[in-house]
Amino acid sequence: MIRKAGPLHDQIANMDACIRCGLCLSACPTYQITLMEEESPRGRIAAARALADGAIALTPDVIAHQRSCLLCEACTAICPAGFRMEDMGIALRNEIRQRAGSGGGLALRLALRGPLAHPWQLRLLSRSIWLYQRSGLRWLLRHSGALRLLRLRRADRLLPAMPARFFVAKGQHWPPSGDAAAGAPRIGLLAGCVMSTALSGVDFATARVLAAAGCEVIVVAGQGCCGSLAAHNGFVAEARQRARRTIDAFEREQLDAIVVNAAGCGAAMKGYGHLLANDASYRARAPAFSAKVRDLSEFLAERPSFTRAARRVDATVTYQEPCHLAHAQRIRSAPRTLLEAVPGLRLVEMAESAMCCGSAGVYNLTQGESADALLERKLDNALATGAEIIVTANPGCQLQLAAGLAARGSGVRVMHLAEVLDLARDVED
Ligand code: SF4
Ligand code: SF4
Repeated sequence: MIRKAGPLHDQIANMDACIRCGLCLSACPTYQITLMEEESPRGRIAAARALADGAIALTPDVIAHQRSCLLCEACTAICPAGFRMEDMGIALRNEIRQRAGSGGGLALRLALRGPLAHPWQLRLLSRSIWLYQRSGLRWLLRHSGALRLLRLRRADRLLPAMPARFFVAKGQHWPPSGDAAAGAPRIGLLAGCVMSTALSGVDFATARVLAAAGCEVIVVAGQGCCGSLAAHNGFVAEARQRARRTIDAFEREQLDAIVVNAAGCGAAMKGYGHLLANDASYRARAPAFSAKVRDLSEFLAERPSFTRAARRVDATVTYQEPCHLAHAQRIRSAPRTLLEAVPGLRLVEMAESAMCCGSAGVYNLTQGESADALLERKLDNALATGAEIIVTANPGCQLQLAAGLAARGSGVRVMHLAEVLDLARDVED
């Protein structure tokens, strides 16, 4: 029985906004691959509402249909009644976590308390993965069958090739302090977790692109994980802790904007006002912080000077829209505008560009079957365009697509928008 007060109970007005029109069914990835009402937004709302009323029990089946939700926000974006799935999903997962024995997720809990709480631990773990990939140990574990025995084959397949150099947030400036033009906007850059390690090249590219656009970039020291992964998995207390730490770190600098190159992190940071609404110390500071947060594409598209002549990039690309950019932040035209402004580059639209690729935080680790079905559908749509490069704007999508292309033996590459814009810069380092 769900408690008569608590996170889920607070969502009753949100759940009651649903008029059961079914408009969201066409947009919901899990409904599209199963055609089951329980796997639709409407079905999930009905189950959650019945739980809040105590009309049904929290059975493994109910939990499974809630956990299979990607929290991709496609339903929220299309809903005419104003229902918000992410708010309900986080509340429900938090409620489930609070019930003994129904939380699970030990690995995630350890990750949240270890590498995702302490950037030095994340770098140590990433360095260990780098060694694992280069020492021959990976080859040995793959060929000995040990990965299968340890049930780590999927995790191994999703591991990106770890770079040798990480992007460490230590208060450095781009261009070096004192070299920025007078009046240049002061931009705080979120380094991120996966971005700063597994995809550190994207962070370096982002800093160069922003500097080339006339900004002074500050990689604020003391920053860490934004809390998005914790919130999505129902660890709301941990998410609030990460949000406070992020605000504290960025408030130490006088910034005109805080730029984020990971759609999921940007969406979470824009929601800090909501997340910390009941925290007296942050009630005013959190919305002020969120008001400065911009996705990289959003920020650059607002700066017409950036669209000046740049180097040619002779390539055909297609754009995969991250859910938390398209649906949560409602940013759809800015990345396309930036790509179309690159001389030589040809943008070909794929079908269902805004449908989730199956990455969704740790979804591709915890819900393998659905994640694979969505990935295959995404790759079919992307490859049908004939593009040589799939461009995206979120680390999870980037890793998921790259793993899928590698499994198919495809020569098509995946690049972050920042990396494409970096190729097109009209200034040398
Ligand atoms: S969530 Fe919105 S779109 Fe979906 S059935 Fe309810 S009211 Fe209709
Ligand atoms: S958040 Fe995404 S997966 Fe979940 S119900 Fe909505 S559209 Fe479906």
